[in-house]
Amino acid sequence: MSIRVRFAPSPTGPLHMGGVRTALYNYLFARNRGGVFILRIEDTDQNRFVQGAEEYIMEALDWCGIRVDEGVREGGPSGPYRQSERKEIYRQYAQQLIDNGRAYYAFDTGGEIEKRRREAGGIFAYDQNTRMEMRNSLSLSEEEVKKMLVSGVPYVIRFKMPADEEIIMQDIIRGEVRVNSNTLDDKVLYKSDGMPTYHLAHVVDDHLMEISHVIRGEEWLPSLPLHYMLYKAFGWSGSMPRFAHLPLILKPTGSGKLSKRDGDKMGFPVFPIDWKNSETGEVYPGYREAGYFPEAFVNILALLGWNDQTDREIYSMDELIKVFSLERVGKAGSRFDPDKARWFNHQYLIKKSDREISKEWVKILEAKSHGSFRLPDSGTLEKIVGLVKERVDFVPGLWDQAWFFFEAPQVYDEKTVRKRWKEETPGILKEIMEEIRGIKAEKEDPEVYEKVIKDMTGKHQWSLGGVMNALRLCLVGKPMGPGVFDIMAVLGKKETISRIEAAINTIKTEPRI
Ligand code: GLU
Repeated sequence: MSIRVRFAPSPTGPLHMGGVRTALYNYLFARNRGGVFILRIEDTDQNRFVQGAEEYIMEALDWCGIRVDEGVREGGPSGPYRQSERKEIYRQYAQQLIDNGRAYYAFDTGGEIEKRRREAGGIFAYDQNTRMEMRNSLSLSEEEVKKMLVSGVPYVIRFKMPADEEIIMQDIIRGEVRVNSNTLDDKVLYKSDGMPTYHLAHVVDDHLMEISHVIRGEEWLPSLPLHYMLYKAFGWSGSMPRFAHLPLILKPTGSGKLSKRDGDKMGFPVFPIDWKNSETGEVYPGYREAGYFPEAFVNILALLGWNDQTDREIYSMDELIKVFSLERVGKAGSRFDPDKARWFNHQYLIKKSDREISKEWVKILEAKSHGSFRLPDSGTLEKIVGLVKERVDFVPGLWDQAWFFFEAPQVYDEKTVRKRWKEETPGILKEIMEEIRGIKAEKEDPEVYEKVIKDMTGKHQWSLGGVMNALRLCLVGKPMGPGVFDIMAVLGKKETISRIEAAINTIKTEPRI
């Protein structure tokens, strides 16, 4: 059997991480089985259409490295891939169901249905028990129906759900699911605006596009009986795709579905890339802009619901493709853990070379510097990255750990000064400064500084710890950063001396307690 899967988002807003995970599982499954991955845009709900959402979906997939084989941009043998361009097709198939007696015209207005609902105490189902009391082509005479159709009275087309059928469904993740058709209503398949509903459009498209597996969110599981009955009504049961309904991604607390609000409250993104609401101007933060690597994001999503039964956690896309299977997707929802997400990014960050990281960082630094500091050469930048990258989870976070390589401290931490700046400190530092001035090494090397300073502290019996703390205060202004000798070697002789000098001049004038 040839494997063809589709990711079928509705462009009703930005794709959240659950949506990207659905795309990813479809993609991994297709690639693992040598199949085709299709992107179909389900834009038949005109009221919910959001400008820019379709472009957003494609950009997000591109960023993740999820490559589409057939789609709106790529084209392909089963196009068009945007449902709004397939209206005629749905019309024909709706007609086919009417002609076969499997669907019917319904002329009830929204107001009429609402009235029935109110009369019934708020619960009303348009189904086998009530359909003959309503205004439709089953209850009205042929004559009347014809007249209404000719005179353009608005109508919808409803599915005539057969009575008392035991519908036995198979789901790859959940196993067998059974429902009796008596519990199901007559869903609208075709709307008065000339557009199909999701139920009709996706069944027709999955059939025409020869989809072999439908992999989608579990919110669609309750609709599966209807979809089964639609395949049957069309006579397509024999070629029906197999289904896999993915479990939810749960809140960090584990209670309920992860929502945008959880992200706002707890300070993590729920969208892959920034989304700007064109009406309100509001920006919803994305993983990309928060500094996540796409590989890390993909890795995080892959493990939210799937595992390969080992403790392994780090997988590249190619590795995921090799080992992914739907059988290893769990039934239960997976709790999203923002700390673990950061941990994943950290793993990718430390695995990347200093050169790779500094190339990304330089883009951020260039935007940040505005001429207030000069960027060092690329070799120095790589050295800085190497010194601090273990301490951060994200490339933009490097700045907080490394700002003092770019600008001299303006203030000296008071508490540290009180503790570390002794009477004799300026004198000692002056001597060290002179010694550094005399260094004649060809290149800046932490070992040269280490030797000079250790020799001097040894000779004069100074406390090495005390000297190091004082030097750190001069160079950084507070007790942070990598090794003092490493910092000196990156700053270079001239800058190191100038910072020691500045500290001696500034700190000595401060009132002592
Ligand atoms: N358009 C539906 C959605 O956005 C797709 C469901 C499906 O994959 O069948 O959820």
